[in-house]
Amino acid sequence: MKKVILPLLVALLSSGQASAWGFFGHRIINQIAVYELPSSMQPFYYRHLNEIVRQSTAPDERRNSDPTEGPRHFIDMDHYSEDNPFAKVPKEYDKAVEKYSADTLKKYGTVPWVVLETKDNLVKAFRDGDTLAIVKYSAELGHYVGDAFVPLHTTVNYDGQLTDQKGLHSLWESQLPERFILDYKLLDDKPSASYIKDPLNAIWLVIQQSYGFLGETFDRASKIEKTMPPTVRYTFSHRYGKTQRRYSDAFADAYEKAVGGMVNYRLKGAPTLVSSLWLTAWQEAGKPDLNAMMRPTKATKEEKEKLAIELAAWKKNTLAQDQLLLAQQKTKKAEAADEIKPAKEMAPVHAPEPEPEAAPAPASEASAPDAPAVDKVKVKTKGKDGSEKIKKKAKQEESPSGW
Ligand SMILES: [Zn+2]
Repeated sequence: MKKVILPLLVALLSSGQASAWGFFGHRIINQIAVYELPSSMQPFYYRHLNEIVRQSTAPDERRNSDPTEGPRHFIDMDHYSEDNPFAKVPKEYDKAVEKYSADTLKKYGTVPWVVLETKDNLVKAFRDGDTLAIVKYSAELGHYVGDAFVPLHTTVNYDGQLTDQKGLHSLWESQLPERFILDYKLLDDKPSASYIKDPLNAIWLVIQQSYGFLGETFDRASKIEKTMPPTVRYTFSHRYGKTQRRYSDAFADAYEKAVGGMVNYRLKGAPTLVSSLWLTAWQEAGKPDLNAMMRPTKATKEEKEKLAIELAAWKKNTLAQDQLLLAQQKTKKAEAADEIKPAKEMAPVHAPEPEPEAAPAPASEASAPDAPAVDKVKVKTKGKDGSEKIKKKAKQEESPSGW
Protein backbone atom coordinates (compact mmCIF):
# COMPACT_ATOMS: atom_id res chain seq x y z
CA MET A 1 0.00 0.00 0.00
CA LYS A 2 1.27 3.42 -0.86
CA LYS A 3 1.98 5.81 1.90
CA VAL A 4 0.48 9.25 1.48
CA ILE A 5 3.13 11.79 2.13
CA LEU A 6 2.19 14.98 3.90
CA PRO A 7 2.59 17.57 1.12
CA LEU A 8 0.47 15.42 -1.13
CA LEU A 9 -2.19 15.10 1.54
CA VAL A 10 -2.25 18.85 2.04
CA ALA A 11 -2.54 19.41 -1.69
CA LEU A 12 -5.33 16.90 -1.82
CA LEU A 13 -7.23 18.54 0.99
CA SER A 14 -6.94 21.99 -0.50
CA SER A 15 -7.95 21.12 -4.01
CA GLY A 16 -9.78 18.55 -6.02
CA GLN A 17 -13.04 19.56 -4.40
CA ALA A 18 -15.61 21.99 -5.62
CA SER A 19 -15.40 25.08 -3.46
CA ALA A 20 -15.68 28.78 -4.09
CA TRP A 21 -12.62 30.87 -4.84
CA GLY A 22 -10.93 28.72 -2.25
CA PHE A 23 -10.41 30.33 1.12
CA PHE A 24 -7.39 32.16 -0.30
CA GLY A 25 -9.40 34.09 -2.91
CA HIS A 26 -12.29 34.96 -0.59
CA ARG A 27 -9.90 36.41 1.98
CA ILE A 28 -8.16 38.51 -0.64
CA ILE A 29 -11.44 39.87 -2.00
CA ASN A 30 -12.63 41.07 1.42
CA GLN A 31 -9.27 42.61 2.30
CA ILE A 32 -9.04 44.59 -0.94
CA ALA A 33 -12.66 45.73 -0.57
CA VAL A 34 -11.70 47.48 2.69
CA TYR A 35 -9.02 49.43 0.79
CA GLU A 36 -11.65 50.74 -1.64
CA LEU A 37 -13.88 52.33 0.99
CA PRO A 38 -14.34 56.09 1.48
CA SER A 39 -12.88 57.79 4.56
CA SER A 40 -16.28 57.79 6.26
CA MET A 41 -16.23 53.98 6.43
CA GLN A 42 -12.63 52.86 6.12
CA PRO A 43 -11.39 53.37 9.73
CA PHE A 44 -14.20 51.17 11.09
CA TYR A 45 -13.67 48.45 8.51
CA TYR A 46 -9.90 48.59 8.88
CA ARG A 47 -10.25 48.23 12.67
CA HIS A 48 -12.15 45.01 11.99
CA LEU A 49 -10.08 43.88 9.00
CA ASN A 50 -9.01 40.60 10.58
CA GLU A 51 -12.60 39.58 11.25
CA ILE A 52 -13.87 40.79 7.86
CA VAL A 53 -11.22 38.59 6.28
CA ARG A 54 -11.58 35.66 8.70
CA GLN A 55 -15.36 35.47 8.34
CA SER A 56 -15.16 35.71 4.54
CA THR A 57 -15.17 31.91 4.48
CA ALA A 58 -17.91 31.35 7.10
CA PRO A 59 -20.61 30.59 4.51
CA ASP A 60 -18.44 27.81 3.06
CA GLU A 61 -17.55 26.49 6.50
CA ARG A 62 -21.18 26.02 7.50
CA ARG A 63 -22.04 24.05 4.37
CA ASN A 64 -21.11 20.81 6.07
CA SER A 65 -23.48 21.38 8.98
CA ASP A 66 -26.28 23.22 7.19
CA PRO A 67 -27.80 21.41 4.19
CA THR A 68 -29.63 24.56 3.05
CA GLU A 69 -26.38 26.51 2.67
CA GLY A 70 -24.94 24.84 -0.46
CA PRO A 71 -27.28 26.24 -3.14
CA ARG A 72 -26.80 29.78 -1.84
CA HIS A 73 -23.39 29.98 -3.54
CA PHE A 74 -24.22 29.45 -7.20
CA ILE A 75 -26.89 29.56 -9.91
CA ASP A 76 -26.89 27.01 -12.71
CA MET A 77 -28.11 29.24 -15.52
CA ASP A 78 -27.78 26.58 -18.22
CA HIS A 79 -30.27 24.41 -16.38
CA TYR A 80 -32.98 26.87 -17.35
CA SER A 81 -31.84 27.22 -20.93
CA GLU A 82 -28.66 26.81 -22.91
CA ASP A 83 -29.76 29.60 -25.19
CA ASN A 84 -29.57 32.97 -23.45
CA PRO A 85 -31.01 31.94 -20.08
CA PHE A 86 -30.72 35.54 -18.91
CA ALA A 87 -33.66 36.46 -21.10
CA LYS A 88 -35.71 33.67 -19.51
CA VAL A 89 -34.97 33.64 -15.80
CA PRO A 90 -36.77 36.53 -14.06
CA LYS A 91 -34.40 38.71 -12.08
CA GLU A 92 -36.86 39.21 -9.22
CA TYR A 93 -37.02 36.30 -6.80
CA ASP A 94 -40.84 36.28 -6.53
CA LYS A 95 -41.25 36.19 -10.29
CA ALA A 96 -38.65 33.45 -10.62
CA VAL A 97 -40.50 31.41 -7.98
CA GLU A 98 -43.73 31.91 -9.88
CA LYS A 99 -42.14 30.65 -13.08
CA TYR A 100 -40.03 27.78 -11.74
CA SER A 101 -41.08 27.07 -8.09
CA ALA A 102 -39.05 27.70 -4.97
CA ASP A 103 -37.84 24.09 -4.91
CA THR A 104 -36.35 24.37 -8.39
CA LEU A 105 -34.58 27.61 -7.51
CA LYS A 106 -33.21 26.01 -4.37
CA LYS A 107 -31.91 23.06 -6.35
CA TYR A 108 -30.14 25.08 -9.04
CA GLY A 109 -28.89 27.87 -6.86
CA THR A 110 -29.95 31.21 -5.45
CA VAL A 111 -26.78 33.32 -5.26
CA PRO A 112 -28.19 36.55 -6.80
CA TRP A 113 -31.00 36.68 -4.25
CA VAL A 114 -28.74 35.68 -1.39
CA VAL A 115 -26.55 38.68 -2.22
CA LEU A 116 -29.61 40.91 -1.92
CA GLU A 117 -30.77 39.25 1.30
CA THR A 118 -27.31 39.63 2.87
CA LYS A 119 -27.17 43.26 1.79
CA ASP A 120 -30.55 43.86 3.47
CA ASN A 121 -29.29 42.18 6.64
CA LEU A 122 -26.33 44.54 6.54
CA VAL A 123 -28.63 47.56 6.22
CA LYS A 124 -30.45 46.39 9.34
CA ALA A 125 -27.18 45.85 11.20
CA PHE A 126 -26.13 49.43 10.37
CA ARG A 127 -29.50 50.74 11.55
CA ASP A 128 -29.18 48.80 14.81
CA GLY A 129 -25.61 49.99 15.32
CA ASP A 130 -24.71 46.33 15.85
CA THR A 131 -20.97 46.01 15.29
CA LEU A 132 -20.91 42.21 15.37
CA ALA A 133 -23.69 41.98 12.80
CA ILE A 134 -22.10 44.64 10.58
CA VAL A 135 -18.85 42.67 10.53
CA LYS A 136 -20.63 39.36 9.95
CA TYR A 137 -22.87 40.49 7.11
CA SER A 138 -20.14 42.57 5.48
CA ALA A 139 -17.84 39.54 5.47
CA GLU A 140 -20.56 37.23 4.16
CA LEU A 141 -21.75 39.69 1.52
CA GLY A 142 -18.15 39.67 0.29
CA HIS A 143 -18.28 35.89 0.10
CA TYR A 144 -21.46 35.57 -1.96
CA VAL A 145 -20.49 38.41 -4.30
CA GLY A 146 -17.11 36.72 -4.76
CA ASP A 147 -18.85 33.47 -5.69
CA ALA A 148 -20.91 35.25 -8.35
CA PHE A 149 -17.66 36.31 -10.04
CA VAL A 150 -16.63 32.68 -10.66
CA PRO A 151 -17.77 31.36 -14.07
CA LEU A 152 -18.07 27.79 -12.78
CA HIS A 153 -20.69 28.97 -10.28
CA THR A 154 -23.13 29.53 -13.15
CA THR A 155 -23.30 26.09 -14.73
CA VAL A 156 -24.50 22.53 -14.05
CA ASN A 157 -21.07 21.44 -15.29
CA TYR A 158 -19.57 23.24 -12.30
CA ASP A 159 -16.55 20.98 -11.90
CA GLY A 160 -16.10 19.93 -15.52
CA GLN A 161 -17.62 16.62 -14.38
CA LEU A 162 -19.84 16.35 -17.46
CA THR A 163 -16.99 16.88 -19.91
CA ASP A 164 -14.35 14.62 -18.33
CA GLN A 165 -12.64 17.67 -16.83
CA LYS A 166 -13.34 16.93 -13.20
CA GLY A 167 -11.21 19.09 -10.97
CA LEU A 168 -11.51 22.19 -13.14
CA HIS A 169 -13.33 24.05 -10.37
CA SER A 170 -10.55 24.05 -7.83
CA LEU A 171 -7.93 24.43 -10.55
CA TRP A 172 -9.56 27.67 -11.70
CA GLU A 173 -10.39 29.24 -8.38
CA SER A 174 -7.84 27.80 -5.95
CA GLN A 175 -4.81 26.30 -7.64
CA LEU A 176 -4.27 29.20 -10.06
CA PRO A 177 -4.63 32.12 -7.63
CA GLU A 178 -2.57 30.32 -4.98
CA ARG A 179 0.16 29.49 -7.46
CA PHE A 180 0.27 32.78 -9.35
CA ILE A 181 -0.71 35.41 -6.79
CA LEU A 182 2.65 37.16 -7.24
CA ASP A 183 1.82 37.74 -10.92
CA TYR A 184 -1.73 38.91 -10.33
CA LYS A 185 -2.73 42.53 -10.12
CA LEU A 186 -5.13 43.26 -7.29
CA LEU A 187 -5.86 46.88 -8.20
CA ASP A 188 -9.10 47.17 -10.14
CA ASP A 189 -9.45 49.60 -13.05
CA LYS A 190 -11.89 51.61 -10.97
CA PRO A 191 -10.71 50.83 -7.47
CA SER A 192 -13.19 52.63 -5.27
CA ALA A 193 -16.61 52.00 -3.80
CA SER A 194 -19.59 53.74 -5.31
CA TYR A 195 -23.30 53.80 -4.52
CA ILE A 196 -25.34 51.25 -6.48
CA LYS A 197 -28.86 52.26 -7.33
CA ASP A 198 -30.02 48.80 -8.37
CA PRO A 199 -28.05 46.07 -6.53
CA LEU A 200 -30.13 43.24 -8.00
CA ASN A 201 -29.34 44.36 -11.52
CA ALA A 202 -25.66 44.79 -10.61
CA ILE A 203 -25.29 41.24 -9.33
CA TRP A 204 -27.16 39.84 -12.34
CA LEU A 205 -24.71 41.64 -14.64
CA VAL A 206 -21.84 39.98 -12.81
CA ILE A 207 -23.45 36.54 -13.17
CA GLN A 208 -24.05 37.16 -16.86
CA GLN A 209 -20.43 38.14 -17.30
CA SER A 210 -19.28 35.03 -15.39
CA TYR A 211 -21.47 32.91 -17.66
CA GLY A 212 -19.89 34.57 -20.67
CA PHE A 213 -16.48 33.22 -19.60
CA LEU A 214 -17.65 29.59 -19.46
CA GLY A 215 -16.89 28.72 -23.05
CA GLU A 216 -13.33 29.83 -22.61
CA THR A 217 -13.03 28.12 -19.22
CA PHE A 218 -13.80 24.70 -20.74
CA ASP A 219 -12.33 25.13 -24.22
CA ARG A 220 -8.88 26.31 -23.13
CA ALA A 221 -8.63 23.25 -20.89
CA SER A 222 -9.67 20.99 -23.79
CA LYS A 223 -7.02 22.52 -26.00
CA ILE A 224 -4.27 21.71 -23.49
CA GLU A 225 -5.67 18.20 -22.97
CA LYS A 226 -5.11 17.52 -26.65
CA THR A 227 -1.36 18.03 -26.43
CA MET A 228 -0.64 16.99 -22.84
CA PRO A 229 -0.85 13.27 -22.07
CA PRO A 230 -2.80 12.20 -18.96
CA THR A 231 0.37 11.10 -17.20
CA VAL A 232 1.59 14.71 -17.27
CA ARG A 233 -1.82 16.29 -16.95
CA TYR A 234 -2.78 14.76 -13.62
CA THR A 235 -1.36 14.03 -10.22
CA PHE A 236 -2.66 10.85 -8.69
CA SER A 237 -2.88 10.08 -5.02
CA HIS A 238 -4.17 7.14 -3.10
CA ARG A 239 -6.23 7.45 0.02
CA TYR A 240 -8.66 5.18 1.85
CA GLY A 241 -8.32 2.65 -0.93
CA LYS A 242 -9.35 5.17 -3.57
CA THR A 243 -7.29 6.77 -6.27
CA GLN A 244 -7.80 10.50 -6.51
CA ARG A 245 -6.90 12.67 -9.42
CA ARG A 246 -6.16 16.35 -9.58
CA TYR A 247 -4.63 18.58 -12.20
CA SER A 248 -0.85 18.71 -12.06
CA ASP A 249 1.29 21.80 -11.69
CA ALA A 250 2.33 21.36 -15.32
CA PHE A 251 -1.30 21.58 -16.39
CA ALA A 252 -1.90 24.51 -14.02
CA ASP A 253 1.00 26.37 -15.63
CA ALA A 254 -0.34 25.78 -19.13
CA TYR A 255 -3.87 26.68 -18.08
CA GLU A 256 -2.69 29.83 -16.36
CA LYS A 257 -1.06 30.90 -19.62
CA ALA A 258 -4.31 30.20 -21.44
CA VAL A 259 -6.84 31.73 -19.01
CA GLY A 260 -4.89 33.36 -16.19
CA GLY A 261 -5.90 36.82 -17.35
CA MET A 262 -9.50 35.78 -16.80
CA VAL A 263 -8.92 34.50 -13.26
CA ASN A 264 -7.02 37.64 -12.34
CA TYR A 265 -9.70 39.82 -13.94
CA ARG A 266 -12.48 38.22 -11.90
CA LEU A 267 -10.42 38.29 -8.69
CA LYS A 268 -9.66 41.99 -8.92
CA GLY A 269 -13.14 42.95 -10.08
CA ALA A 270 -14.98 41.40 -7.13
CA PRO A 271 -13.76 43.73 -4.34
CA THR A 272 -15.15 46.79 -6.12
CA LEU A 273 -18.67 45.40 -6.10
CA VAL A 274 -18.22 44.19 -2.50
CA SER A 275 -17.11 47.60 -1.23
CA SER A 276 -19.84 49.28 -3.30
CA LEU A 277 -22.52 47.12 -1.70
CA TRP A 278 -21.12 47.84 1.78
CA LEU A 279 -21.33 51.55 0.94
CA THR A 280 -24.81 51.16 -0.51
CA ALA A 281 -26.09 49.36 2.60
CA TRP A 282 -24.55 52.03 4.81
CA GLN A 283 -26.23 54.79 2.79
CA GLU A 284 -29.56 52.98 2.84
CA ALA A 285 -29.28 52.79 6.62
CA GLY A 286 -28.94 56.58 6.80
CA LYS A 287 -25.13 56.80 6.95
CA PRO A 288 -24.62 56.08 10.65
CA ASP A 289 -21.44 57.48 12.21
CA LEU A 290 -19.13 54.47 12.22
CA ASN A 291 -16.37 56.30 14.08
CA ALA A 292 -18.72 56.67 17.02
CA MET A 293 -19.03 52.89 17.17
CA MET A 294 -15.28 52.39 17.58
CA ARG A 295 -13.36 52.13 20.87
CA PRO A 296 -11.20 54.12 20.75
CA THR A 297 -13.13 56.27 18.32
CA LYS A 298 -11.24 57.16 15.14
CA ALA A 299 -8.26 55.35 13.73
CA THR A 300 -5.19 55.22 15.98
CA LYS A 301 -1.82 56.50 14.78
CA GLU A 302 -0.63 52.93 14.43
CA GLU A 303 -3.66 51.93 12.35
CA LYS A 304 -3.19 54.94 10.09
CA GLU A 305 0.45 54.13 9.49
CA LYS A 306 -0.22 50.48 8.82
CA LEU A 307 -3.07 51.23 6.46
CA ALA A 308 -0.96 53.79 4.57
CA ILE A 309 1.72 51.14 3.96
CA GLU A 310 -0.88 48.65 2.75
CA LEU A 311 -2.64 51.14 0.48
CA ALA A 312 0.69 52.12 -1.09
CA ALA A 313 1.58 48.47 -1.68
CA TRP A 314 -1.88 47.81 -3.14
CA LYS A 315 -1.47 50.68 -5.58
CA LYS A 316 1.97 49.42 -6.59
CA ASN A 317 0.61 45.86 -6.82
CA THR A 318 3.14 44.56 -4.30
CA LEU A 319 0.76 43.36 -1.55
CA ALA A 320 1.50 39.69 -2.19
CA GLN A 321 5.20 40.27 -2.70
CA ASP A 322 5.38 42.23 0.58
CA GLN A 323 3.44 39.45 2.37
CA LEU A 324 0.72 41.94 3.33
CA LEU A 325 -2.23 39.78 2.36
CA LEU A 326 -3.89 38.25 5.41
CA ALA A 327 -4.64 35.24 3.20
CA GLN A 328 -0.89 34.56 3.18
CA GLN A 329 -0.81 34.40 6.96
CA LYS A 330 -2.12 31.85 9.39
CA THR A 331 -5.75 32.29 10.40
CA LYS A 332 -6.11 34.49 13.43
CA LYS A 333 -8.38 33.79 16.34
CA ALA A 334 -11.73 35.56 16.50
CA GLU A 335 -11.47 39.02 17.98
CA ALA A 336 -14.04 40.67 20.18
CA ALA A 337 -15.95 43.48 18.50
CA ASP A 338 -16.12 46.94 20.00
CA GLU A 339 -18.74 47.74 22.52
CA ILE A 340 -21.95 48.68 20.78
CA LYS A 341 -22.97 52.30 20.75
CA PRO A 342 -26.72 53.02 20.62
CA ALA A 343 -27.77 54.17 17.17
CA LYS A 344 -29.50 57.29 18.47
CA GLU A 345 -26.19 58.79 19.58
CA MET A 346 -24.88 58.69 16.06
CA ALA A 347 -24.49 61.71 13.89
CA PRO A 348 -24.54 61.53 10.10
CA VAL A 349 -21.19 61.99 8.46
CA HIS A 350 -19.99 62.99 5.05
CA ALA A 351 -20.56 60.44 2.31
CA PRO A 352 -19.35 60.39 -1.30
CA GLU A 353 -21.57 61.34 -4.21
CA PRO A 354 -23.75 58.46 -5.30
CA GLU A 355 -22.97 56.94 -8.64
CA PRO A 356 -25.48 55.00 -10.68
CA GLU A 357 -23.52 51.86 -11.35
CA ALA A 358 -20.53 50.00 -10.03
CA ALA A 359 -20.85 46.75 -11.89
CA PRO A 360 -18.50 45.91 -14.74
CA ALA A 361 -19.62 45.65 -18.34
CA PRO A 362 -21.82 42.67 -19.19
CA ALA A 363 -20.36 39.42 -20.40
CA SER A 364 -20.94 39.62 -24.09
CA GLU A 365 -18.85 42.75 -24.32
CA ALA A 366 -16.27 42.41 -21.58
CA SER A 367 -13.95 45.13 -22.69
CA ALA A 368 -11.62 46.10 -19.89
CA PRO A 369 -8.13 46.56 -21.30
CA ASP A 370 -6.66 43.53 -19.57
CA ALA A 371 -9.76 41.37 -19.80
CA PRO A 372 -9.34 38.33 -21.99
CA ALA A 373 -11.55 38.02 -25.02
CA VAL A 374 -14.77 36.17 -24.37
CA ASP A 375 -15.45 33.34 -26.73
CA LYS A 376 -18.93 32.53 -27.75
CA VAL A 377 -20.46 30.56 -24.93
CA LYS A 378 -20.51 26.89 -25.57
CA VAL A 379 -21.57 25.07 -22.49
CA LYS A 380 -20.87 21.44 -22.96
CA THR A 381 -23.50 19.32 -21.39
CA LYS A 382 -22.73 15.87 -22.71
CA GLY A 383 -20.08 13.58 -21.45
CA LYS A 384 -17.44 12.12 -23.75
CA ASP A 385 -19.49 8.97 -24.08
CA GLY A 386 -22.46 10.99 -25.23
CA SER A 387 -24.39 10.21 -22.08
CA GLU A 388 -27.18 12.52 -21.08
CA LYS A 389 -26.43 15.43 -18.88
CA ILE A 390 -26.61 14.53 -15.26
CA LYS A 391 -28.54 17.21 -13.50
CA LYS A 392 -27.40 16.11 -10.17
CA LYS A 393 -26.03 18.82 -7.97
CA ALA A 394 -23.74 17.02 -5.66
CA LYS A 395 -23.24 18.68 -2.36
CA GLN A 396 -20.27 20.87 -2.98
CA GLU A 397 -17.67 20.21 -0.40
CA GLU A 398 -15.23 22.63 0.95
CA SER A 399 -11.55 22.66 1.37
CA PRO A 400 -11.31 21.46 4.95
CA SER A 401 -7.79 22.70 5.50
CA GLY A 402 -8.54 26.35 4.83
CA TRP A 403 -5.78 28.85 4.34
ZN1 LIG B 1 -19.17 30.00 -1.56
